Amino acid sequence: MEDKYSYPAQTTCDKCGDDVRRFKFLQKINGGRFCKKCVREKRKEHREFLKRDICHIPKRKDLEKEWAEKRKEKEKLMKTLPNYESPGIKSIRRGRPKISSLGIYITRDEKNVLYKKLVGLGFDSKTANERIDNLCEKMRKVVEKLRETVKSEEDLNKRFREEFGKMCMELESGGLE
Ligand SMILES: [Zn+2]
Repeated sequence: MEDKYSYPAQTTCDKCGDDVRRFKFLQKINGGRFCKKCVREKRKEHREFLKRDICHIPKRKDLEKEWAEKRKEKEKLMKTLPNYESPGIKSIRRGRPKISSLGIYITRDEKNVLYKKLVGLGFDSKTANERIDNLCEKMRKVVEKLRETVKSEEDLNKRFREEFGKMCMELESGGLE
């Protein structure tokens, strides 16, 4: 059996393999011996690990990615709304859109309320969604028709809400199939 102490002392880094020439130039971490450069790297890695995995501090880059995804999702959702205008068109007139152009559709919250009502009445989710889609389609037509006669946006919005209320009642009583 060979005596391990007869070997010359280690002078190479366990990570990068660089020869630092003297054993004392290597630093011991977790049972391994590393050169200065690798020790610095390891410490940095460890700090990152503490920050990200232990303290859950997200990287700015990751946050930005998340924000971008959220923006995209919102954009996708906006496109499903009946009076959505693409950002290209919208950018022509700057600033906030008028309230009048916002009110004339069934909001996502309203859809959710309807959905819960229908499910509460015993409809399965597919039927409930179909009914809500039908209702939205009908309301679109109602708005088109109202626009022919009602000129003031305020009146239009009021009439829309009235018609919407009626349709909700119809929907709950089993209409709009
Ligand atoms: Zn090294």
